[in-house]
Amino acid sequence: ATVSLTDVAAPALSLRDIHHTFAANQVVKGIDLNIAPGEVVCLLGPSGCGKTTLLRIAAGLEVLQEGAVSLDGKPIAAPGKRHVPPEKRNVGLAFQDSALFPHLSVLENVTFGLKHLPNRERRERAIELLTQLGMANYIETYPHMLSGGQQQRVALARALAPTPKLMLLDEPFSSLDARLRDRIRDDTLHVLKKLGSATLLVTHDPEEAMFMADRIALMRDGKIIQTGTPRELYCAPIDPFVVTFFGEVNELRGTVHQGKVQTPVGAVDASWLPEGSEAQVMIRPEALRIKERDLPFEAHNHSHVVMAKLLGRTSLIHLCAHSDDGQEAHLHARVPGVFLPEEGQPIDIDLDHSQVFIFPR
Ligand code: ATP
Repeated sequence: ATVSLTDVAAPALSLRDIHHTFAANQVVKGIDLNIAPGEVVCLLGPSGCGKTTLLRIAAGLEVLQEGAVSLDGKPIAAPGKRHVPPEKRNVGLAFQDSALFPHLSVLENVTFGLKHLPNRERRERAIELLTQLGMANYIETYPHMLSGGQQQRVALARALAPTPKLMLLDEPFSSLDARLRDRIRDDTLHVLKKLGSATLLVTHDPEEAMFMADRIALMRDGKIIQTGTPRELYCAPIDPFVVTFFGEVNELRGTVHQGKVQTPVGAVDASWLPEGSEAQVMIRPEALRIKERDLPFEAHNHSHVVMAKLLGRTSLIHLCAHSDDGQEAHLHARVPGVFLPEEGQPIDIDLDHSQVFIFPR
């Protein structure tokens, strides 16, 4: 049996039954979340669902209204009683628009939080981090001479430099262009794991969350809908919102009959749903496996290609699926690599059932 880190050590961060309201607008509605030492947790969710507010509560930038916050097992905030200010929480903070100190060089910005160390060590640690984040050539530069993405990397280095036990990062890669972002994410994850900092990272990008997170907490409208490893959320989503959040899906409807729902691409297991009930079938585009078929062109009652587009690493196929009993559906499939069948090409479709999900309607 595996023992989770939370069982053996006090969580680096514990949020208990957090509620938060701005004016009459309740934006956090009862959130419980633990982060184990060294664990990277991503708060993922659509814009406005309360991610930033929750992170600011953990940081002490919002005064706690309801619930409890502790760091390393020590309570640091209780409504109306205790409020340890942000600078006393020993957490590293980096935000989307983290301002650097304009009058300090890059190196001085990063060494700022290291006053307790001897000069040489301070400098060495800062240079090591700046090197890892690709900023070694800018040590003497001042913030106004840097691009937004470069400033963001310096802000990350500054937050990481004191090796806090807890890092709170809010969209820390948002100012980086796509190519640089992949690299800096990779480098940042490497640094976080090397330092062993527990991390709460806010993002609205599912791919970023899947790459960075040991665990993802998916939020909607002030609540956590599902918590789990990237694989658990992607492969065992608990409701339609979780499925759609990770990308486009084909949605079909049907009635449960003898434990199955018939679709134009085959029967889907629905044994956990009541006989005769209405079901929603969600098919990820990559679940549709396509085989070209040697048939004359006029075969109207067969599944066929409507349109094919090359997107780079994958090809997108719009297709019309026909079942033997006359059901028809327009579906999108995603196939790895270059696959560009002709419009009208008859096809056979095979379903990868691990990427098909069924829910009651
Ligand atoms: P995004 O990804 O767009 O940053 P988010 O999930 O981080 O969104 P929050 O920034 O936590 O969401 O905001 C949640 C809600 O609270 C929003 O409706 C926002 O308008 C509101 N809100 C946030 N801060 C304040 C504030 N200081 N005063 C009033 N309302 C606020």
